[in-house]
Amino acid sequence: MKKILNYINGELIEPKSNSYIDNFEPAKGEVYSLIPDSDENDVELALQAAEEAFPTWSKTPKEERSAILKKIADLIEENLDTLAEAESRDNGKPLALAKKVDIPRASHNFSFYSSAIIHFESESHDMEIGAINYTLRQPIGVAACISPWNLPLYLFSWKIAPAIAAGNCVIAKPSEITPMTAFLLSDICIKAGLPKGVLNIVHGYGHKVGAALTAHPKIPVISFTGGTQTGESIAKVAAPMFKKLSLELGGKNPTIIFDDCDYDKMLNTTIRSAFANQGQICLCGSRIYVQKGIYDKFKKDFVEKVSQLKVGNPNDKSTDQGALVSKAHMEKVLSYIQLAKDEGGKILCGGEQIDLSAKGLNGWFIAPTVIEGLDHLCRTNQEEIFGPVVTITPFETEEEVLTYANSTKYGLASSLWTENLSRSQRMAQKIHAGIVWVNCWLLRDLRTPFGGVKQSGVGREGGFEVLRFFTEPKNVCIRFEN
Ligand code: NAD
Repeated sequence: MKKILNYINGELIEPKSNSYIDNFEPAKGEVYSLIPDSDENDVELALQAAEEAFPTWSKTPKEERSAILKKIADLIEENLDTLAEAESRDNGKPLALAKKVDIPRASHNFSFYSSAIIHFESESHDMEIGAINYTLRQPIGVAACISPWNLPLYLFSWKIAPAIAAGNCVIAKPSEITPMTAFLLSDICIKAGLPKGVLNIVHGYGHKVGAALTAHPKIPVISFTGGTQTGESIAKVAAPMFKKLSLELGGKNPTIIFDDCDYDKMLNTTIRSAFANQGQICLCGSRIYVQKGIYDKFKKDFVEKVSQLKVGNPNDKSTDQGALVSKAHMEKVLSYIQLAKDEGGKILCGGEQIDLSAKGLNGWFIAPTVIEGLDHLCRTNQEEIFGPVVTITPFETEEEVLTYANSTKYGLASSLWTENLSRSQRMAQKIHAGIVWVNCWLLRDLRTPFGGVKQSGVGREGGFEVLRFFTEPKNVCIRFEN
């Protein structure tokens, strides 16, 4: 069986423990490869390599760092098919989605920061009394980058690319549930000529590798994407050590649809924003609020379209919905569907596991599910389900829907559908969310801040800000005689 290896000091190596974790193919429900069960000893080895690489890498001219990042971006693009197949097999997502979104965006992360580092500038301030202040922005040292399973290579590269572009060395830990594309990235980095030790990828469990990275006194900066609870436990350990932290956490995003929207555009995009990647995107809109004038029409059309989504083999071009990422996750999502029923919700479509074993797929499929009739404060509408399950609710006024939208502890993203420009501005100002999409969804410009407010995260950054996050600012003040 294929063994995934750690990437430490420029080499692909076995974990020190020599023990491995089963890696499942979600569509088939079968183990298809093995993941290093690394621990603090592998982290120590990676740290040694990163510390050794840091003095040279941090002083390597920006242009050289940029060229290597661009090479990595190009190699990701050249290997798009292989990477997309690996991502789809590892995660259960439709191959077409991995080809169209995940892998191109991973490549773009590297090419964006390859260019951004060239144009990155630090500030200088002239004081009238005869002094100049400037800000030295220096790479910090060894950064830990910890990422989740839902958009594996995309989110992994969103952290690694700016960290190494800014001159840091990195120890990165992909999710133990979807490690394959991170493993393939190791090979790409070797081929791109990334100096040894600049990026080290240590595979394994969060409570072992992730916890060792978080607690290590020699790792002063952590960029984490994952669940809010995990973020909280990382913050508890890292805060007393005064580590620099970026936490991108969970969401429970509202989609708000007004009567005056461009109906067809809204309907098509709302299907995508609700169910893309089986609803397992932190930015998916899982609470859909629809103004009363079009509620009945929306309900009929939406349910009809959702019922037509084809759940099946991720490799088939006609598949809209693949498998959920793991058995445990599928069971969690099913338990929320049961909870919704217990809370008085009416299942309009879906609501159950789908058995595709006749097609040789013994994995974890759930029919896309639409529920109505739930109070905005019930658990189904407050907790992150992170699966193909959405609620729909009518509303009358802007004030009413703002109360609903802002009622959760989360504040990651939101979508508004209206042709009324003033209303969209008013609402955008009042919604508790780090991202407000108006008449669109998932459009990203890497120059803008990404992330959430409230319990959806801290350290929201975009473009150059991310480069700033991965540098240590130092004020140098020079006094001179006038
Ligand atoms: P998770 O928190 O379980 O795991 C994320 C990563 O943290 C994994 O690599 C895991 O091994 C590691 N980890 C687990 N325990 C750890 C610990 N104690 N110390 C250090 N690391 C630890 O999240 P997940 O289930 O992989 O991903 C789903 C969650 O991620 C959802 O809540 C989703 O909303 C969130 N997410 C957020 C964003 C965002 O940008 N805000 C993007 C994608 C996913």
